[in-house]
Amino acid sequence: MAYLFQPDYVKYACSCGSLKPISKIYFCRHCLKIRCGYCVCHEVDSHYCPSCLENLPSTEVRLKKNKCLNCFDCPCCFQTLSVRAGHAPIKQAPTAEDQKAPPKKVYYLFCSLCRWSSRDAGIPDQYVATGSWPEQENPNTNRINVLIDYHKILAAKEKEQRDRKKIHAFLQFEKFGLTSAMARKRAGRPPLPQSKFQQSDRPSPAVASEEVEELPEDIFTAPLDITKITTLEQRLHHPEVQAEKINELRPQHKQFLVKRSQRCRTCEHNVSKPEFSPQSIKFKIQLAAFYHVPEIRIVTCEPLRAGKTSELLLKFCNPTQHQTQITLLPLDTPTTPTTITAAGEKVEVKRETMQLGTESPNLLPSAVRQVVVTEDPKPITISVNAELTLPHSSLILPPRDDTAEYDDTGDTHNFQDDPKLVVWRKGNKAVVRLYVTPELGEENKEGDSVIVGFVMQYGYVNTIATLEHKAPQKLDLRAKLFLTIGDLLGST
Ligand SMILES: [Zn+2]
Ligand SMILES: [Zn+2]
Ligand SMILES: [Zn+2]
Ligand SMILES: [Zn+2]
Repeated sequence: MAYLFQPDYVKYACSCGSLKPISKIYFCRHCLKIRCGYCVCHEVDSHYCPSCLENLPSTEVRLKKNKCLNCFDCPCCFQTLSVRAGHAPIKQAPTAEDQKAPPKKVYYLFCSLCRWSSRDAGIPDQYVATGSWPEQENPNTNRINVLIDYHKILAAKEKEQRDRKKIHAFLQFEKFGLTSAMARKRAGRPPLPQSKFQQSDRPSPAVASEEVEELPEDIFTAPLDITKITTLEQRLHHPEVQAEKINELRPQHKQFLVKRSQRCRTCEHNVSKPEFSPQSIKFKIQLAAFYHVPEIRIVTCEPLRAGKTSELLLKFCNPTQHQTQITLLPLDTPTTPTTITAAGEKVEVKRETMQLGTESPNLLPSAVRQVVVTEDPKPITISVNAELTLPHSSLILPPRDDTAEYDDTGDTHNFQDDPKLVVWRKGNKAVVRLYVTPELGEENKEGDSVIVGFVMQYGYVNTIATLEHKAPQKLDLRAKLFLTIGDLLGST
C-alpha cells in the first residue's frame, strides 16, 4: 500500500489527458487503454444503509427519502447512535402497585463517542427497541407537498404531449395522408386547443418579504454560553429545522449509501462492478490499473542541482500473470499499442484488429445505459524540467507470484541483466538506476519540484478470446508517466 504514502509523485497520463496516480485509474481490457474517473460512466448499482446493511430497490429508497428507518446518526458528532436498554426512572412517590410490578425495560438512544443521549434532549424513552422514535415534523411539509404535486402534474402533461406527438407521427407514417390537425391547418382553422392547466393547480409563488423578526432585546447583553449553541455543521446536517440550541437537536435517520459500478465510455464495458450484496466487499469485475499496468515507485534520488547529474532509483513491479518486458522511451513517443506479426514484423494495432470481445454479458440493453459522452483528449499541461538519461536495454519482469514474496532464497530467475541498469531484483519486482539532470535556466529556481517524464512500453497479454482469435494476443502497450522526484537545491 505504498502508494498511500507516495500519492502523487508518480502520475500516469490517462487517455483523456488527465494525470492520476495508479491507485486512481482503471485499465479497460477491451480498449487496452488507461481510464480515469472522468472517462468512465458512474452508475448506481444498489442502495444500502451503512449501519444495518439493509439493501433496498431504488424506488423504495426514493419513497423513504434516502434514509434508513431504523438507524440514526448523532446530531452532535454525526456518529451512529446505539440503542441502549435501561430501567424506567423511579417515580418520586411510588404507589403500592408500582412497587410490586417488576421494573420495566426502556430504550434510549446514546452516542458512544460524544455521549449525547436522547434522554438529555428530552426525548421520552421507548418501550420497544426499534422503529418507534418520534419523528420531527418538517415545518415546510405542506408547501413541499404542494410543489411536488404540481411537478407531478407537469411531468404527466409533458409525457402526454410526447405520447401524442409519437402517435401523430405514427399515424402520418401509416396512412401517408392527412391527420385531423393537418386538415384543420389546411382549411385555415386554428388547431384544437390542447388541454390547459387549471389555474388552481398552480401553487402560489414564494414572495420575498422585507420584514424580518426582531432580534431579542438581550442579544448584546446576555452572557453567551457557546457550549449550548449549535455549530454551523450541526445546523446544516438537518437543514429543514436548523436548531439553534444544543438541546433542540434531534437524532437524524442515517442516509443510504450506494454501490457504484464504472463503465468505459468508449466501449461501454464495465471496468469495475461490485457484488450486489452490501455485505460483500468483493468485485465481479475489477479492472483497476494496478492489476494490469506495471507500477513504478521512486526508491531514492540523490540531491538535485540544476545542471548536475544525479542518480535516481526506480522500482518496477509487474502485477500480471504473464512475463513482461519494459522499455523506457522518450516522452514524445506515440502511445499507440504495437504487436509483432507472425512474420516477425512490428506493427501498430488499430482498434479494428484488437481482440475486443464485441458483446459481453455485462452490457446492458441500450435503453438502460447512460448516454455516452466522449470528449477529445485534453493536452497534458505538466512541464518537464529535467533530462532523464534513458537506458538502452530493456528490463524483463517475471509474472506475479504471491509465494515469492515469502521466499528468501534469492531466486533471481537468472536474467541476463545489464548490471549498470538493474541494481536489485526479487520476484516480479526490480529496481533500476537512471540518471537525471535538472535543466539550467531562469525558470528553475531553488525549491521547485523536479519533474521527469517518459513513455513506458510494457508487454501485455490480451486474454480476451474472440471468435477469430482464440489464442491470447501479445501486445506492446505504452503509458506516459510523469514523476515528481524531489525539490531543486541551490547551486552551492
Ligand atoms: Zn481519463
Ligand atoms: Zn439502517
Ligand atoms: Zn455523538
Ligand atoms: Zn473500453
